[in-house]
Amino acid sequence: MSDCLFCNIIAGKMETEFIYEDDKVVVFADINSQAPVHYLIVPRKHVPTIMDLKKSDNELVGHIYQVATHLAEETGIAEDGFRVVSNCGKAGGQSVFHIHFHLLGGRSMQWPPG
Ligand code: 5GP
Ligand code: ZN
Repeated sequence: MSDCLFCNIIAGKMETEFIYEDDKVVVFADINSQAPVHYLIVPRKHVPTIMDLKKSDNELVGHIYQVATHLAEETGIAEDGFRVVSNCGKAGGQSVFHIHFHLLGGRSMQWPPG
């Protein structure tokens, strides 16, 4: 077992159901859902925080947003609007240090965030 939770999920060791997957990312429901739709879009590549992204990862990040908008359409949250969030570091609220993008929708979001 890797000591990274999301690497283990990606490797299929946690029996987590993937809502979407391709050669670059997997998507699964957040275990502690904060909205009617709350998915985590997670690159297969282990990158600890968005601070560790390199220029060579630009295509990957663009792809993540393509997947987010595709799933927003598929789940019916695109029309009303939704949120894509990536927490970075301790004060940013990151608890799993393998980058991921939260796709949240199906209710009105508040601003400022907590
Ligand atoms: P972060 O706090 O790093 O921005 O987001 C990590 C997210 O991963 C949290 O929203 C948390 O609920 C979710 N999470 C933590 N452990 C698991 C797990 O084992 N399975 C799933 N599906 N989600 C998890
Ligand atoms: Zn990892």
